[in-house]
Parts: sequence; C-alpha cells; structure tokens
Amino acid sequence: MRDPQEKATRRWTRTHNSRLVLRTIYDHAQISRADVARLTGLTRPTVSSVVAGLLKKELVEEVGRGPSVGGKPPILLSVADDARQVISLDLARSEFHGALVNLRGSVQRRIVLPLRGRDGEAALVLVYELVDALVKEASSPLLGIGIGTPGLVDANNGVVHQAVNLDWQDVPLRRLLRKRYKLPVYVANDCHVAALAEYTFGHNEGVGDLVVIKAGWGIGAGIVLGGHLVCGNPFGAGEIGHVKIAENGERCRCGNVGCLETVASSRALIRRAQAIARSDPHSLLHQFAADSEAITLDTVLQAFEAGDETVRQAIGEAGRSLGIAAASLVGVLAVRRILIAGSVARFGQFLVDALRESMARHALPSLAGNTEVGIASLGSDIVLMGASALVLSQELGLT
Ligand SMILES: [Zn+2]
Repeated sequence: MRDPQEKATRRWTRTHNSRLVLRTIYDHAQISRADVARLTGLTRPTVSSVVAGLLKKELVEEVGRGPSVGGKPPILLSVADDARQVISLDLARSEFHGALVNLRGSVQRRIVLPLRGRDGEAALVLVYELVDALVKEASSPLLGIGIGTPGLVDANNGVVHQAVNLDWQDVPLRRLLRKRYKLPVYVANDCHVAALAEYTFGHNEGVGDLVVIKAGWGIGAGIVLGGHLVCGNPFGAGEIGHVKIAENGERCRCGNVGCLETVASSRALIRRAQAIARSDPHSLLHQFAADSEAITLDTVLQAFEAGDETVRQAIGEAGRSLGIAAASLVGVLAVRRILIAGSVARFGQFLVDALRESMARHALPSLAGNTEVGIASLGSDIVLMGASALVLSQELGLT
C-alpha cells in the first residue's frame, strides 16, 4: 500500500499543475502545449496529460492551429470562457443585484430585487429568492456563489458580523447558502470585492498595489497590496467611512460626530441637496425634483451638470473630505493608485480634482504627488465582477 503522505503529495502536485496550466492558458488568448510547457517549466508529457484532463472537463478547447515552426503547425488552446458560470451577488445597494457571470467576469444574466425596507431575516429570504432565480437561469455548470455585502465580514468563515443597513449580526451566510445550494460559497465586504475586481478585471496591468475607495450609501476602501487583498485581522481593513472629518459635523449612524460618511456618502449628498432646495427657491434642483423629498442622487447629478453652484460646492466638499481619508491611506500604505467607485464616482473628474488637491495638502507632497487618482473602470458592475473573482481564484486558481 502506498504511503498516505506520498498519495497526498501526488494529489497536491496534480492540482497545482492543473491550476498552473489552466492559469497560463487563461492569461493568453491562444497558446500551444509547447508554449505552456516553456512558460510553466513543466515537461511536455505533464502538460499534455493535464491538458487532456482540462479538455475532458471542457474548461479548455482546441481552437485551431498556429504558425508552423518547422514541423507540423501546433494546435492552439484557449479557455472556454462560458464553460462555467458563477452566481455573483451585490448586496450593498438599495436593491439586491444578482448575476450569472462567466469565467472572464462578464455578466451574462442579471436579476435585481428591490429591498423595500426589508432587513434581518426578510433580507436573507430575499437573498434566497435571488439565488433560486439565478440557479434556474444558469446555462452552464455552476462553479460557486460569490457575495459582496456591506459591513464587517469575516471572509475566512463567510460570516457577516455586522451590516447595519441590513440589520444583520453574525449571519453565517456561507454556511446557510452552502447547505441550501450545495455549492462553494465565498463572502467578502463589498469594498474589498470592488478592489479585487479592479485588480483582476480593470485596466491595471502590472499594478500590484491599489486602493479602491467605494463611496455610495456608505463609504469604505478595498486594499490590494502585492496582488493580495488586505482584509484586516480578521476583518475591518479600509473602514474609512467613520474617520472623523468635520469637528462639529453631523451625528453619524455609528454614534460619533462628523464622520466621512456624513459628508461624502450618497446619503449625505442627498440630504445636503434637500436642505439646499428647501432654503434656496432659485436652486436648479427645483427643475429636476417635484419637492425636496423627491430628490435622489440622479437629481443631484442633474443639478450638478446644469451648473448649480451650491450643489457643486457640496460635491467639492465631498471630494475634499475623501481626499483627507485618501491622504491617510497614502501615508500608511504608500499606494500609487487610488480609484473611486460607487455611486458618488458619478461626479467624475470634478470630484477627483477636489480629492487630489486636498490629498496633496494632507499628505507628504512627494508621496501624494506620485499617487494617481482616478475613477474605477468597471462601473456599477464592480461588486458583481469582484464577487465572481473571489470564486474564480479560489475554485480554479484563475485571477
Ligand atoms: Zn460614523
């Protein structure tokens, strides 16, 4: 009988080789077995045997022949992008968004269910409804479920410790969903997942360190250092939303006063616009909303684009406040790329300019000067894409 230790080592080697080969094919549009062997350092017979396994699983396909280098033209391999689907959920918006995503992070089917004030157990039931519907719609075998959720999340155990807006405390999301769907489940904070999305699918080639500041209903940062997501110990990294910005500011939902979220979140901007509309009969906001209660972030954006000076001042202030938080990230981490995501990123370059200018005043100028600031490239699907990246990296070693 073979030594169990040796058996385990052989199994590990097989899995490792298979992931290495799949990843190498994934990183190239088309590639021959010989080039895979050259790039991975594996022998030709090992690559051939691993590729045979991947062809059988239909994760890889033969897509034609490449140019001949003397002998017979080599067969080219490619990853079959639609061979598997991931169920991705974004629970950090005023509706729950779910999608079926392929191996390249591309959204193939999308379902949105409005929360309508549901929280606690009712919000959990809504998660089940969303996943049930997506399971029915799947057109390829499912690889797993990836979830980006607001709040303090223990990603190692898939437990949401605290999500204030959903009124969740210590919800073992991974265990619950695994039991119900018999699929691998990965759960992480929405801002962390957004950073993973930019690192994996964004236009950040060759950048190993980046920070995504996600400013929407809440505010938080996702940090990727050396290609790894920083979660905290065991969670809570990047919780910049409750850094104090205004000494005599507004009371925040966390109990403190003057937090970043009270100035720069979408909620704060809407509240601010409502106050402007109430006090200023000439505000352009009146053109876009029936009354101050009807003001949404869309209304604020319309007034901003129409040049309402008071609204522009509010956006400038939000940008400058984000810049103070960004300065502390630059001071601590010396990151070179900061990207803004979330609904507040819709204010674009104006917001970025205000942020950058304030960041430069609050950080060591030579560090701040070397830090690029921009809008995240993945738009409103950023959390869905990042949640799929969680599953792709854990289950297949891709990304
Ligand atoms: Zn707070």
